[in-house]
Amino acid sequence: MKDVITIDGPSGSGKGTAARILAEKLGYEYLDTGALYRAVAWKAREEEVSLDDETALKHLVGNIQITLTDGRIAVDGVDVTSEIRTAEIGELSSRVSAIPIVRAGLFSLQRDICLQGRVVIEGRDTGTTIFPEAKNKFYLDAGVGERARRRYEELKLKDPGITLEKTLEDIKKRDERDSTRQNSPLTKTGDMIYIDSTGLSIDEVVEKIFERVRSSF
Ligand code: C5P
Repeated sequence: MKDVITIDGPSGSGKGTAARILAEKLGYEYLDTGALYRAVAWKAREEEVSLDDETALKHLVGNIQITLTDGRIAVDGVDVTSEIRTAEIGELSSRVSAIPIVRAGLFSLQRDICLQGRVVIEGRDTGTTIFPEAKNKFYLDAGVGERARRRYEELKLKDPGITLEKTLEDIKKRDERDSTRQNSPLTKTGDMIYIDSTGLSIDEVVEKIFERVRSSF
């Protein structure tokens, strides 16, 4: 399967930016799967749905309309592109994503998008669960300190109260939750190309991925 490229990795590994630039370079669509979990988290908060209420969550995931257009994301007609990028929604989305009913609900949406065309898809389980048959699978990583610094630089623009220490603490918590959950944990498998982006610029990371993809064509 040449048309789907998967990039997995933890928060702040640079996979989102790398995937977006790579997709542009190749003329592929780009699918940020974390944004889908963030969208569900946003809706759950909006509707005050408790994460312990499986029936309500099932209903929410079964009825939510997520629209992705030109890099923007809307939930039931409301543009949430900026609102889902806060530390609060990041934390909530990590909790939401550990719930099997939510993962099951978002599975077909992601799978269908991949089957429609050429896509660079990034997240935590894109190469293991969503599109395991992809020919080009990558795992992007970086040291936890560097990942926290990158995330902090993004978050402080929206949230002046945020500190680097708090961001580091949150990232460690999310790493732990994302990699130990029962359902589709973040995992690096033997058929993924591992790239450590610590100390590399985004262009250098994209170049590494691009070369691998190009040589596979
Ligand atoms: O990548 P991002 O930080 O936007 O993802 C938000 C949360 O969604 C992550 O902390 C992770 O828990 C969850 N997620 C996931 N599986 C994916 C993508 C994201 O569980 N494929």
